[in-house]
Amino acid sequence: MPYLVREHLFIGNIGDAAEILQNGSDEVTHILSVLSSASISFFSEWRSGVSIPSKEIRNVYVGGTRSEDDACDGSSSSLSPNKLLYALEYAGKDLKFVRMAVPLRDMENEDLLDYLDVCLDFIEESRKAGSVLVHCFAGVSRSAAIITAYLMRSEQLSQEDAIESLRQSCEFVCPNDGFLDQLKMFEQMGFKVDRASPTYKRFHLKVLGDSYHRGELIDNSKFGADPGLPAENVSSEVETSHDKEASTPTPVYRCKKCRRVVALQENVVDHVPGEGQSCFEWHKRRSGNIFNKAGDDECSSIFVEPLRWMTTVKEGALEGKLLCAQCEARLGYFNWSGIQCSCGSWITPAFQLHKSRVDISTM
Ligand SMILES: [Zn+2]
Ligand SMILES: [Zn+2]
Repeated sequence: MPYLVREHLFIGNIGDAAEILQNGSDEVTHILSVLSSASISFFSEWRSGVSIPSKEIRNVYVGGTRSEDDACDGSSSSLSPNKLLYALEYAGKDLKFVRMAVPLRDMENEDLLDYLDVCLDFIEESRKAGSVLVHCFAGVSRSAAIITAYLMRSEQLSQEDAIESLRQSCEFVCPNDGFLDQLKMFEQMGFKVDRASPTYKRFHLKVLGDSYHRGELIDNSKFGADPGLPAENVSSEVETSHDKEASTPTPVYRCKKCRRVVALQENVVDHVPGEGQSCFEWHKRRSGNIFNKAGDDECSSIFVEPLRWMTTVKEGALEGKLLCAQCEARLGYFNWSGIQCSCGSWITPAFQLHKSRVDISTM
């Protein structure tokens, strides 16, 4: 049986969803399925004899459409652009349910954040139109994480308070640790996924590092736009941050030798000087600072997200030099396994520009 969380909002498992889709429901009109596959055939794979009719409304891919492989800019999500974001369809008995299906695995390193906006908006709209069941396989981790985020956003609750409140309805909910950390980031970003925030940038870099270490190809879509090329410079992210700080000129970093622009302030992934690996390792946020040398000189480097001019990174090596795209001067190093800043912090993965090789100026 699904559990009532709020008026017109239920949480449940795959059995609850199958029951409603097959036999109808007096109450539920919308279903948000969070399973490892968005396909309706997941139900028949789960239990033979279960066959649920469906009729596609639309499939939405990251970046909007199916074919725009190369249309990603620096403001993009951590997901690759040809990945399915969600499927929307009529499903179940008499095709009278609206089902949104989001492909998400229950793993700590799964990117939950990039799905939150669409899921929370669907829940919001569905509750206005009828009642919504949010379900995953067991009704414990994925669906609970999404409903927790929904309660955080709609009621301005901290991650802890939202989970506590959800447990009043359904005591065994337990989002996995990676999801809990991402929900904490969601809270820090003000109950939204702010892709320009340092929190998201660190997360994005971590996801990128994980995918590199899994042996996935890091293609152009995962690199930030080259700030040295005017055409690529008009990303939505850049416009947003200009809007936000219209009065403050944005600092840019230039190659000291040839003056080419190599990074914008928004490409910089901040770290707290001397905080050790902890600030980048979300599983061990409060672990020992054995490399902590806080109090030493200020950082001798800046760390940035990987950018499209970094041709040495695109070659796929674990580490290497970063050379200016114009004059080939050595600007710094990259290492997918991390680099220690002069302040003692470990940044993983690291794309490092030496302050002695770049100048800061304003646009
Ligand atoms: Zn530092
Ligand atoms: Zn140069």
